[in-house]
Amino acid sequence: MGEVYIVGAGPGDPDLITVKALKAIQKADVILYDRLVNKQLLKVSKPSSLRIFCGEFPQSHTMKQDRINQLMVKYASNGKMVVRLKGGDPFVFGRGGEEASYLTKHDILFHIIPGVTAGIAAPAYAGIPVTHREFGNSFAIVTGHQISGKKDVKWTHIATAVDTIIIYMGMKQLPVICDELMKNGRSGETMAAIIENGTTINQKVVTAPLCHLVEEVKKHSIANPAIIVIGDVVTCRETLDQKTAAVF
Ligand code: SAH
Repeated sequence: MGEVYIVGAGPGDPDLITVKALKAIQKADVILYDRLVNKQLLKVSKPSSLRIFCGEFPQSHTMKQDRINQLMVKYASNGKMVVRLKGGDPFVFGRGGEEASYLTKHDILFHIIPGVTAGIAAPAYAGIPVTHREFGNSFAIVTGHQISGKKDVKWTHIATAVDTIIIYMGMKQLPVICDELMKNGRSGETMAAIIENGTTINQKVVTAPLCHLVEEVKKHSIANPAIIVIGDVVTCRETLDQKTAAVF
């Protein structure tokens, strides 16, 4: 019997992968990888390994997920060491939990290797600490992509419950999100930032008060993948922006 490693590849900069994740990729017979995974990471895999890009699977999420689940079970049942490689952390909006449940149901042994999540790493590269004793002692990680009928994001509470709000997959809904937050008590003067392609050489950052964020994003044509950060911690960027990336 083989086994499956559900692995976080980190947020974009390939050096942000963990040592354990790298070892798993080196040992893998089969790698099922997602669109947001930095392809450079695959270079360390065995030449004989089978690398399957899951980004080209059917558009329908359910069909895509079914196909991935079936492939994991198929290869593990054939005695292969399977790595399911995902951007960031597999349990942060990565469907890692669903995949682990599926493997449990099919009696396949699995392991989770956490990764550096984009919502913390992208702001860090942009000079924004998600907590700071002066500017914010709490943060929430929220999805901006809501599936109606499922667990909807409770903007009414989130607007004022935490100091820093970090939103994944929020670009499409940005105007609605900004409106909801302000309607529910978050000041329009609160500073906000959007980081596109965080931690990569293509990283782009815009900052603006919450009430002007939508216009600013349009002006700079910021697109996905992007992280939205709202809170006073964003002001730290003025002094903590690193100008150049650390390269080893
Ligand atoms: N599991 C991933 C998140 C997957 S959901 C993690 O832990 O990071 C996909 C969303 O993550 C994107 O829509 C975007 O909001 C965010 N994201 C992923 N990589 C990113 C990057 N390099 N820069 C900015 N946002 C990113």
